[in-house]
Amino acid sequence: MAGNPDFNLFQLEDFHHELREAIRGLSEKEIAPYAKDVDGKSRFPEEALTALNAAGFNAVHVPEAYGGQGADSVATCIVIEEVARVCGSSSLIPAVNKLGTMGLILQGSEELKHKVLPDIVNGKMASYALSEREAGSDVASMRTRAKADGDDWIINGSKCWITNGGKSDWYTVMAVTDAEKGANGISAFMVHKDDEGFVVGPLEHKLGIKGSPTAELYFENCRVSGDRMIGAPGTGFKTALQTLDHTRPTIGAQAVGLAQGALDAAIAYTKDRKQFGKTIASFQNTEFMLADMAM
Ligand SMILES: Cc1cc2nc3c(=O)[nH]c(=O)nc-3n(C[C@H](O)[C@H](O)[C@H](O)COP(=O)(O)OP(=O)(O)OC[C@H]3O[C@@H](n4cnc5c(N)ncnc54)[C@H](O)[C@@H]3O)c2cc1C
Repeated sequence: MAGNPDFNLFQLEDFHHELREAIRGLSEKEIAPYAKDVDGKSRFPEEALTALNAAGFNAVHVPEAYGGQGADSVATCIVIEEVARVCGSSSLIPAVNKLGTMGLILQGSEELKHKVLPDIVNGKMASYALSEREAGSDVASMRTRAKADGDDWIINGSKCWITNGGKSDWYTVMAVTDAEKGANGISAFMVHKDDEGFVVGPLEHKLGIKGSPTAELYFENCRVSGDRMIGAPGTGFKTALQTLDHTRPTIGAQAVGLAQGALDAAIAYTKDRKQFGKTIASFQNTEFMLADMAM
């Protein structure tokens, strides 16, 4: 491919263009009409969740082996970008479904993948719980602990700023299982909202993207079975960072979509707004502008 003079690394495939057309149509028709209300009332965009779930755009990244569509990274970014173009809060539904399942997809057992991923394909959501109040950038200093109890693990501690916390059914949670080993003593678990000792705390009051809940989570002797650990003990920190490698581009896509939406709205406004008897877009032509101002 690289030797082919016609090969263009930045050329999207035809199916990417078709995907963009489909998700743009859905976003404009079924998500955009509610965006103002969602933001104004800081409420979860239920209409977007319903529309994305019905059309299968909620978690396109899930591999086909688990009932998903196995969309590539670019396709997933296109979905997020197009939803963000009309509603930033709603774009965090597909974005965080990927964030909350990527560690499992990369490192989880087949059994655990088959347990969790079909739920997400079928419309449940997943979140990613790494950060803590005192462990943001320095996340390896986390205090949430998981202690073995027979075949189970008992998790205690709290997580902070968890996107879609309280709305998701499944949570990828990082916790210290061996305090002596630093970053190599952190393990990752899939926790379900109905697990004993899992509690959703208060939501943050935010300046923007207000329809997407950002919650504190508490683990109060939260019991999970041993088969809920993602990968081997002590690999959770690496899994968490690998997850971010795959999901930072999706947040970039969200930003591109927001910027595109703002630009499209601004251009439409300049074609509608009139001053000096003309649309303000027409003043781009300086001759008109100067002639009008001279009058
Ligand atoms: C809206 C929102 C949603 C979020 N969603 C999630 C989520 O779903 N799951 C999750 O786990 N977390 C989530 N987070 C948490 C997010 O990942 C953290 O905010 C992030 O890791 C930064 O941590 P902090 O806010 O504690 O900043 P701090 O660590 O306090 O950093 C503050 C500033 O200092 C700078 N800084 C820190 N250390 C250094 C250094 N060594 N050298 C130079 N500069 C430095 C940082 O770059 C930053 O600019 C979310 C946060 C927000 C605001």
